[in-house]
Amino acid sequence: MENVREELQNQSTPLYYYDLPLLRETVNVAKNAADRYGYKIHYAIKANNNSRILEEISQLGVGADCVSGAEIALAIEKGFQPAEVVFAGVGKTDKEIQLALENDILAFNVESVQEIGVISEIASSLGKVANIALRINPNVDAKTHHYITTGLDENKFGIMMHELDTCLEIIENHASLSLVGLHFHVGSQITDLNVYKRLCVKVNEWNAYFYDRGYTVPILNLGGGLGINYMEPDEESIVNFSNFFYLFHQFLELKPGQEVHFELGRSIVANCGSLISRVLYIKNGLKKNFAILDAGMTELLRPALYQAYHKVELLQEDKQIEEEEISKVRYDIVGPICESSDCFGKDVLLPELIRGDLIAIRSAGAYGEVMSSRYNLRQPLNYFYKE
Ligand SMILES: *Cc1c(COP(=O)(O)O)cnc(C)c1O
Repeated sequence: MENVREELQNQSTPLYYYDLPLLRETVNVAKNAADRYGYKIHYAIKANNNSRILEEISQLGVGADCVSGAEIALAIEKGFQPAEVVFAGVGKTDKEIQLALENDILAFNVESVQEIGVISEIASSLGKVANIALRINPNVDAKTHHYITTGLDENKFGIMMHELDTCLEIIENHASLSLVGLHFHVGSQITDLNVYKRLCVKVNEWNAYFYDRGYTVPILNLGGGLGINYMEPDEESIVNFSNFFYLFHQFLELKPGQEVHFELGRSIVANCGSLISRVLYIKNGLKKNFAILDAGMTELLRPALYQAYHKVELLQEDKQIEEEEISKVRYDIVGPICESSDCFGKDVLLPELIRGDLIAIRSAGAYGEVMSSRYNLRQPLNYFYKE
């Protein structure tokens, strides 16, 4: 976030700042790393559905992972190929299923027996064949926050083990259904690659299970969840995609002709976005100093929702004074919303702040803008795109 203060000085805040060159570089690095092994990436649109972001990503030749009909429609409108769209989610409505079928998407990631039945009915009424990927719950602990752990037996996601045979039976008996893949997703913000190693072991077992029963499943979809470095967004602005994909190359045992797909959200968009805010007031308490911003949990919910860490920075003049010469103060960085959880960070060490200072809350490109709300009748966001 160097040299942006000047550019942002006259902008209205709170504002989402998007670094489009960094976004493009991130997608290209990810895509090149995946291409090395012939792997395919679907960008998980739920992480950020900003039109500019979608237009940029779709131009770079990755597919889309959608979790609603509206996401499917928007993905296609913003340039993603319908044949490269996958549709996930435990609660797909009839209307959404119909829209997906009409657009001939690549696959439905299916999560229950009943859902398969409904997709089959709608597909046959439209004279279509629905491509099905069964979402298997691999029971791998993602070792991440429990709100973003999805691959354990106790989570609501995926086909229940005891329902699997019924699923296969339904698929076999319906010409409107075609089994094209197995889908796995264990959680989000996963930074320990051992989690993915354990996932590979489970995927290999499942892959063998289907293969031994005579099912050739062309697509293995390993989901998303690759975590980013929230602590040091400048030192590691792009995650090590090479290591990530190499791990799968090492540990996945593919059957002949199988493709491997990934659904990456956060690792693609998190670091290209920052929430920019102005200091409204400084309040010096008895025990603490508070910096009250004009942005809050309504603009970036992650800290309030799951105690997420975001680096908080003061945007300074270009000519930086020597670090040691600046006197630093600890602040609780809070928003204006009437909730105690409306706090971006506690005891954050920053140069002494004054009213009007510009603050950057970093790595806000994923699950930031998309989770913003109108609570307290907050006004629409402002944007700045670095071209
Ligand atoms: C949310 C989600 C993703 C993307 O997760 P990230 O952590 O943002 O990479 C991928 N697949 C599924 C099924 C999801 O629900």
